[in-house]
Amino acid sequence: MSGTNRIDELRLGLATTQERIDHACQQAGRSSNDVTVVVVTKTYPVSDVEILQELGVTDVGENKDQEAGPKRAQMTHPGLRWHAVGQVQSNKAKSVAQWADVVHSVDRVGLVQAFDRVAASSPIQAFVQVSLDGDPARGGCVIPELAVIAEAVARSSTLSLVGVMAVAPLEMEPSRAFADLWAASQGLQGDFPQAAWISAGMTQDFEAAIAAGATHVRIGSAILGNRA
Ligand SMILES: *Cc1c(COP(=O)(O)O)cnc(C)c1O
Repeated sequence: MSGTNRIDELRLGLATTQERIDHACQQAGRSSNDVTVVVVTKTYPVSDVEILQELGVTDVGENKDQEAGPKRAQMTHPGLRWHAVGQVQSNKAKSVAQWADVVHSVDRVGLVQAFDRVAASSPIQAFVQVSLDGDPARGGCVIPELAVIAEAVARSSTLSLVGVMAVAPLEMEPSRAFADLWAASQGLQGDFPQAAWISAGMTQDFEAAIAAGATHVRIGSAILGNRA
């Protein structure tokens, strides 16, 4: 595939995705400006990230430390905001802090402590990830633990609390899952008004997430194509 074709493909992926976002926002009576698109570039090469940047993308997401660090280091131009969206092992906190501006998957106090042992040059924005069905398989704390973890993030010297994140469980209707996340977010904002962001929605379910108040959608395959 030639480089030119790839530019056209990514331009089309971005345009059709933005149309779907605009439509979902319109349906929900929300402004598209209130929804940040994090383009999840995992498994795709640095050349794609550079094309996306040329096409105006500001935020990219990666889920593996060992892939993301080298990718960011290879970028020709700075300026993108890099989001860590996958589970983070505590012994990787130091490495993640070197490439991530935002972490979506803080789900335990031990991980906050691991980040606090790292001196980041500027605070890393952090979402607390919630598991909506209580199954820890894809990360996330159960809702009763949310307040304690958020408290630790709020006191952290390295992390700055910005909100909550979830992945819709497979066996749960996305709109119900995201409604539960919205309720958890509302509860949390009572104690932590700064935690106003909601990271929810992927290629399969971002319309439902936008209807339920998502401020950050994490979209990969709708823009870059299906991962091998
Ligand atoms: C891969 C990934 C996404 C993007 O998924 P798509 O279905 O490709 O849009 C979003 N969030 C997380 C946590 C991911 O790992």
